[in-house]
Amino acid sequence: MREESPQESRLRLVLIGGGLPWPVTQYEVYDGKRFVARLDLAYPERRVGIEYDGDHHRSAGVILGCPNSTRGEVRVTTTQVVAPWRQFTVDVAGVTILSPSFIRITFTGPELHRFADNGYDQRFKLIFPVPEHGYAYLKDGPDWYEQWRALPTEQRNPFRTYTARAVRPHLGEVDVDLVLHGDAGPASRWAVGATKGDRIVLLGPDAGFDGDHGGIEFRPPASGVSRSVLLAGDETAVPAICSILERLPAHTRGEAILEVPHAGDRLAVTAPPGVVVTWGARDGDGHGSRLIPAVVEAAGRLLPTRHRQMRDDAELSDIDIDDSILWEVPEAAPADSLYAWLAGEAGVIKTLRRHLVAERGMDRTAVAFMGYWRLGRAEG
Ligand SMILES: Cc1cc2nc3c(=O)[nH]c(=O)nc-3n(C[C@H](O)[C@H](O)[C@H](O)COP(=O)(O)OP(=O)(O)OC[C@H]3O[C@@H](n4cnc5c(N)ncnc54)[C@H](O)[C@@H]3O)c2cc1C
Repeated sequence: MREESPQESRLRLVLIGGGLPWPVTQYEVYDGKRFVARLDLAYPERRVGIEYDGDHHRSAGVILGCPNSTRGEVRVTTTQVVAPWRQFTVDVAGVTILSPSFIRITFTGPELHRFADNGYDQRFKLIFPVPEHGYAYLKDGPDWYEQWRALPTEQRNPFRTYTARAVRPHLGEVDVDLVLHGDAGPASRWAVGATKGDRIVLLGPDAGFDGDHGGIEFRPPASGVSRSVLLAGDETAVPAICSILERLPAHTRGEAILEVPHAGDRLAVTAPPGVVVTWGARDGDGHGSRLIPAVVEAAGRLLPTRHRQMRDDAELSDIDIDDSILWEVPEAAPADSLYAWLAGEAGVIKTLRRHLVAERGMDRTAVAFMGYWRLGRAEG
């Protein structure tokens, strides 16, 4: 966790509940009338641990004067702690129609130079305005979600998950490729009407934070190992797969299979020469109608023979995809095997999980399965 430059300030100390017997171990600090900190004293060192207002700040300080007095002064060194994720208030800079089903929205904003450019399948949230109220009820800061949950439903800003298709911190821009699927949900509804200048809030990774932001599920074996990958998904996973393909090392081999609604939804993509990219258009057929057979065939080509029969130990717990999220992502994939990443409609991904793990005997620690959305159910 990165900390920004320390700042020193003096705060007036007022002991709440004066007259308590010594040792007093807890003080509350007010800056004027506002509560700003709670001090836990570790007498006799006269050091204080300070819990600041909210947890934006980490602080350390020393008590000046007598710690058991009810009034005094505290010298406090405050360093702002950078959280992994933050809200970005942005404007729509442009809307580009990519194909019958995809539009690309480019966001711009003065803070976007801090949006971390992590690549691969980095996800983030789009937080949509509430009709008539906009963002009047949305709180910023690390406890925004708790505050959001405490609101009545009609005041909660809906949010949905998307992939950062491109990040240009030097220009203060982020692109997202959205699938248009009518006005059934807040994301698609907003996207259909999005125009230049529209204001929206993103919740994304903060480049000022120097740890792992989270939100990247493409975790192949460590570099240096000869890589073989299988990437597969429907239109909601197209942005992630395209973004992963662009960042793969040039020596990577394997296949990428993408199912889209229409033939015209095949997008331009840059991939290593050893990765075969195949698009399948449903053209009115059901979800998975192109993806499932194509992945079954690819698995036959990519998996070594020893994997091609059902393994006795390939026990697979059933997942109720109408009640829970299908999200199985291994932390560390084995170095010597095919690494697979599959995302899309949960029912389709569940079918592919059963095929790869139970029928083909593929090692579960070598496959990331993600139900990005569920037919007939809203996210959240
Ligand atoms: C990690 C992650 C990354 C994602 N990245 C992207 C991305 O880059 N681009 C993208 O377009 N989507 C992406 N998605 C999928 C997106 O979050 C969902 O499609 C989301 O449900 C859309 O929200 P909504 O408000 O439009 O619909 P919701 O309110 O969630 O759902 C309303 C109805 O629409 C249906 N529905 C939802 N999505 C679709 C769809 N794509 N096609 C047809 N019906 C649908 C639901 O089944 C439901 O019946 C991603 C999801 C995850 C988890």
